[in-house]
Amino acid sequence: MKELKDLVRPNILKLAPYSSARDEYSGQTAHVFLDANENPYNSPFNRYPDPLQTELKAMIAKIKGIPSDCIFLGNGSDEAIDLAYRCFARPGIDNAVAIEPTYGMYKVCADINDIEYRPVLLGSNFELDAEKILTACDNNTKLIWLCSPNNPTGNNLDRHEIEMILMKFHGLVVIDEAYSDFSHEKPFRLELANYPNMIVLNTMSKAWGSAGIRLGMAFASKEIIKLFNKVKYPYNISSLTQKQACELLKDPFQVDKWIKTILLERTRVIDAINILPICKKTYPTNANFVLAEMDNAQDIYDYLVKKGVIVRNRNRVTMCSNCLRISIGTKSENNELLAALRQYQIS
Ligand SMILES: *Cc1c(COP(=O)(O)O)cnc(C)c1O
Repeated sequence: MKELKDLVRPNILKLAPYSSARDEYSGQTAHVFLDANENPYNSPFNRYPDPLQTELKAMIAKIKGIPSDCIFLGNGSDEAIDLAYRCFARPGIDNAVAIEPTYGMYKVCADINDIEYRPVLLGSNFELDAEKILTACDNNTKLIWLCSPNNPTGNNLDRHEIEMILMKFHGLVVIDEAYSDFSHEKPFRLELANYPNMIVLNTMSKAWGSAGIRLGMAFASKEIIKLFNKVKYPYNISSLTQKQACELLKDPFQVDKWIKTILLERTRVIDAINILPICKKTYPTNANFVLAEMDNAQDIYDYLVKKGVIVRNRNRVTMCSNCLRISIGTKSENNELLAALRQYQIS
């Protein structure tokens, strides 16, 4: 890895960040707050939220096994994705390399930030080839995007191939582990100390059942986290979101129960889809969804919409022609989907 100061955009390196009222004062004993032009009425919503989300990060630190100062919290993982570009990639000059197919936001944020995006095809079973990724890199490659388990394919990327990339690449490697709670692989976030050039993304939107509150996480060295904190909007996580996340994290066992139930349902749904004559195959999955190759994905998708059942049509995605990505729902939701698919055969 290059030194961090040689990877950061020069303007970000020398940036003096906005200093908010709540940054400057963070003691415990005060009780009269006349520093932020807040309205004294309408408590508790009248107060600006904690800009560094101290209480919430302490809870996440415990659950995820990551020191608080190695955690960034964002308005969804999407904020962390955008910040990675804004901190490290110079518009019009630098580039990013990513696996393909994968989550669409890596490319959208590259386009928004005017960063060249270099997709590198996965193998025919969606497997990662480290050598191929590294060959696509040059001196101006600042970021490599990996996603494991990958969306929309569902599979874990091979651990040794990821390690090879982490060891050989001179820039930053982002590993999106949005779905790692559904997988039995050891998550890469627990290897943070071994890889100073690694950024791991997590989210509350999937296993933790909280897509509506918009809370994403990035885990990285404290130097990288400091950069993210410098560039983010001062109050990027609302007090409502911080409060609701703390509530949820008081009972992490509930999340474990959800995961267990979803994994049992996943097996049942996959078995049922596989025996449909309209299904060519399902791909192995380590996530809470399954990618299914169908006879005619577009037609089946349109048919399901008419029945009020919405799945994700991935027909137009590279290497995914005729594929539907199906999230695992409740037992009764899954039953509705399966009943509709069975009826499609005979319609
Ligand atoms: C769903 C998903 C996310 C979550 O994004 P949020 O902005 O946190 O809701 C992140 N990465 C991948 C690959 C996803 O599929």
